[in-house]
Amino acid sequence: DELISQIAAGEVVERPASVVRELVDNALDAGARQIVLRLLAGGVRLIAVEDDGIGIPMDDLPLALKRHATSKIGNLQELESVATMGFRGEALAAINSVSDMAIASRTAEQAHAMLLDGRTGEMKPIARAIGTTVEVKELFFSTPARRKFLKTDATELAHCVEAVRRHALARPDVGFAIWHEGKLVEQWRAAADSDDAGLDQRLADVLGEDFCERSVLVDYRSSAQSEAGGPLIRVRGRAGIPDAARARGDHQFAYVNGRFVRDKVLAHGARSAYEDVLHGQRQPVYALYVDMDPTRVDVNVHPTKIEVRFRDSREVHQAVRRAIDQALAAPRA
Ligand code: ADP
Ligand code: MG
Repeated sequence: DELISQIAAGEVVERPASVVRELVDNALDAGARQIVLRLLAGGVRLIAVEDDGIGIPMDDLPLALKRHATSKIGNLQELESVATMGFRGEALAAINSVSDMAIASRTAEQAHAMLLDGRTGEMKPIARAIGTTVEVKELFFSTPARRKFLKTDATELAHCVEAVRRHALARPDVGFAIWHEGKLVEQWRAAADSDDAGLDQRLADVLGEDFCERSVLVDYRSSAQSEAGGPLIRVRGRAGIPDAARARGDHQFAYVNGRFVRDKVLAHGARSAYEDVLHGQRQPVYALYVDMDPTRVDVNVHPTKIEVRFRDSREVHQAVRRAIDQALAAPRA
């Protein structure tokens, strides 16, 4: 089981930022309104994610570190299915297999929190407000070969911040703070509401006032109707004006049904809208939120769920292209 977890970890835990992504994901799943990250040495020595979510019931705490699948690895086929299907309910188990992990958690029903030591499985009561703190220390301590591939602390920190940024742009209603070596690195306050005003504030906080001044609002609805009656695809967000384009392409954020994705169809749809003005010389800047019928998109393509597969790529490509075309053509608000 330990071996399967380590293999799964190899698939998904590449660096501290991968751990940050999974832990923040869990905190959001638990309904957190405030998430605090504490890092040491770019996350290699410590990643602590504290949330005020619903907590893990005392009796379930040991289970959180167990792989949900019970089968031991018996043959190559099983191993392959771990590699391709990955990682449902095994992020914590995988991270625990390559680090020194501890979880402190308390639900509303409990009078106190419990602390679980990931190495020994021991539990003991501690004081804590309702919510969960997951601490991951000495990532890859037992796999020096992997540790060797890590970059400088500054680079790993930048990747960790980027991982939080991706979540933060999806959830303006949740507050985030990131500390590194005792210093506050980023702080994004929760918006009063997660409507368009809240989103715009979060975009300004995370991507800078500059981005909002040099971008236009995107709000597009496809004319085709879904079975439920609404537009088949809705694209919201902000698209940078051509002047705001950068030499490097790390300011492109795309979300499908609230989840950050890296997708060729979306990226190409966006790029084609800019093609006439940028001629592929510079990279456009944008944050786009695509909402669509969940049955028309498969999110379980990759264990990290960062890749998606659309049932009809053309319709999505076209929607993104039109959304940006329309936004760039409109008189600036
Ligand atoms: P998954 O998220 O796919 O279920 P994980 O290994 O990431 O698998 O987490 C295992 C389980 O531990 C979750 O299903 C959840 O029940 C619990 N859990 C993990 N992190 C938290 C958290 N921050 N708050 C509440 N429950 C959590
Ligand atoms: Mg998870």
